[in-house]
Amino acid sequence: MSNPDHMSDNGRSSDDGRFDRLRATTTFAGEAHNRWTQATLAVVGVGVLGSLFAREASRSGTHIDLYDFDIGEAHNKGNQPVEVGEPKAEAIARLCNSIAPGSARAHVEDIRHVGPGSFEHIALLVDSTDDVALALPLTELSNGWGVPLLRLAVDGSGRLELGRVLVSHGGQGRACQVCASSWNDVFDPGARTPCIGAQRQQAPTNAGTALAMSVAGLGLLYAQRLVGGNGSDQILDGEVIVDLDTPGILPMKLRRNEECLSGHKRFDPTHLDRTAAGTTIKELFWLARIALENEPPAESESGPLQEISLAFRGHPILLSVVCRGCDLELVRPGTLWRPAPECPECGLVMERRTDAALDHMNQAQARALGLADTSCAALGLPTEGALVTARAPGHSPVQLMFA
Ligand SMILES: [Zn+2]
Ligand SMILES: [Zn+2]
Repeated sequence: MSNPDHMSDNGRSSDDGRFDRLRATTTFAGEAHNRWTQATLAVVGVGVLGSLFAREASRSGTHIDLYDFDIGEAHNKGNQPVEVGEPKAEAIARLCNSIAPGSARAHVEDIRHVGPGSFEHIALLVDSTDDVALALPLTELSNGWGVPLLRLAVDGSGRLELGRVLVSHGGQGRACQVCASSWNDVFDPGARTPCIGAQRQQAPTNAGTALAMSVAGLGLLYAQRLVGGNGSDQILDGEVIVDLDTPGILPMKLRRNEECLSGHKRFDPTHLDRTAAGTTIKELFWLARIALENEPPAESESGPLQEISLAFRGHPILLSVVCRGCDLELVRPGTLWRPAPECPECGLVMERRTDAALDHMNQAQARALGLADTSCAALGLPTEGALVTARAPGHSPVQLMFA
């Protein structure tokens, strides 16, 4: 929650009086504004909603990590302060920093490939992507670190001035975002939307700034209350529909589901004093063994530790690559983010097959795949904060987190 020391104090320590009127509001009364200024928020997606939210959040004194791999295009310029050809996250960070120097950092990255460790000290996670494929990974991050998740969304059809703000906090015994979801809602949402891959590619949000300002405005208030603490009880477990056509604001209650498919699991990692780039798979098995032996055995007899298996969070090991040009297929294990090689036959860049994967890997498999001496970063794990779960028969599983 504390302000990372590589960020400046944003000129806000201060006595220049810029926050006096904010502190006079119920939302920021007492210590709430101090908590807001000391916090860092992660905003995922800086399109029409995220850009408005980020700009006003940083103006009011907080710090923001902005995540978006999108590049600005001409059709964004009517409703977003971005430049054609420039990563959106960089344009929005520049805007925030021009208002409040040192308040924002840009991360031009796919959020699925950012290690959970990067979110350990944030105070609030804001999902303004409305990408259904991210619902579960972001909920797991929120549950894992016990930080609230705020989801901002607009109807992107262009036919309705309709949006919503959803507040969830599964890590604090409240409803999480997927408590009411079935397996199909989360993993096979094809009935309601185009396929996940297609949606990620096109993501056409046909929505005007007026609607986005309303939704981002409500989201900002909720963020300030969640982080500052004033009035946060009233907004947890809630979703609010904003309908500018009728017009109306409709609050709805969310119920926690103890059978929730997210499992409401907290992260409890052992922090490694090493990076993914500086650790081979063989060394990772060795580190896992040390961590497992420090854990009390789950049963009276502990099983053999050569049966250790490792699972890389959000990063299954895809086994092969295929050439679209000549159909050649080769065994080249790596995660989705390990660059595929050029085809030795025709020179095209090959593609990873996503239908043959290992969710976890033991030492014999690692050796058979020729990965023992591969560094974890080269295998395609996030370079910072990757999370690995190690299991062995008779031992409680342990989580290892890279620096
Ligand atoms: Zn849940
Ligand atoms: Zn080829």
